[in-house]
Amino acid sequence: MNELAIPTPTALPVEPVVLITGAARGVGAACARRFAADGAAVILADLRIAEAEQVAQSLRAGGAQAVALSVDLASPEAVADLAVHARAAFGHVDILINNAGMILPKGFVEASVEEWDQLQAVNVRAIFLLCRALLPDLQQQRGCIVNVASTAGLRPQFENGPYCAAKSTVIMLTQSLAQEVLRDGVRVNCVCPGAIDTPLLEEYARARGDECAVVKMRENGMLLPPEDVADAIAFLASRQARSITGHALVVDRGALLM
Ligand code: NAD
Repeated sequence: MNELAIPTPTALPVEPVVLITGAARGVGAACARRFAADGAAVILADLRIAEAEQVAQSLRAGGAQAVALSVDLASPEAVADLAVHARAAFGHVDILINNAGMILPKGFVEASVEEWDQLQAVNVRAIFLLCRALLPDLQQQRGCIVNVASTAGLRPQFENGPYCAAKSTVIMLTQSLAQEVLRDGVRVNCVCPGAIDTPLLEEYARARGDECAVVKMRENGMLLPPEDVADAIAFLASRQARSITGHALVVDRGALLM
């Protein structure tokens, strides 16, 4: 075979193994439910292990294969252990969803070095480390990666600069990695959601003393249900997206157009 040729996309197994970070709640839990409903074996990784275990239990009660794994993605050692334990759970990983993330309700001037480092460690470095650790599996399986970025990575938001910078990095990490592994048959994409109705958004609003904003956005239909984002992620991981790689898919009900 011409070694410069791009491999023809192959179908993922009917019951792929999916590792989802930040799967205890919000978008990650919605992804776990969506992939399980589609017949996948699901690995739910989170710092909130009790909540992740609850989600896993409800999936198992519905007949799915699901395990919860405890991890602090801010720790490189814990990320390396996660890759080992995820592989051990079902033998390999076909699909990696780097969803976990945290927000820092501060601008560049207010943020401390420690806060910047923590934000980068969870929102960016963990993706780099986990992709690298699981790449042998994904190359072997001709699998795929979907990262969760944000519209905050496409357009600056007031007093949210460090988060915007981190999410912008996730988009370029996605595209650069997609280019690097193109000839291995591994696809890498990301979603860029707008505001989603999850605990993260409520905690952000609370920290800024602006809980009314979330209520107003919900009333105006401006908050995405986490299931809408999970659907977009499931599409990018599916056979229907077999010729899509290096793409940043905006999922925001048109908010960026306003
Ligand atoms: P969420 O807070 O509801 O869920 C995030 C999950 O990640 C939690 O279960 C949390 O325990 C886990 N997590 C956080 N830090 C961790 C760590 N160090 N180790 C392991 N797990 C950790 O948030 P969400 O809204 O569902 O966010 C999911 C993704 O969507 C994030 O990457 C977020 O940045 C992104 N996003 C959210 C919004 C929004 O408005 N909610 C908008 C755009 C993008």
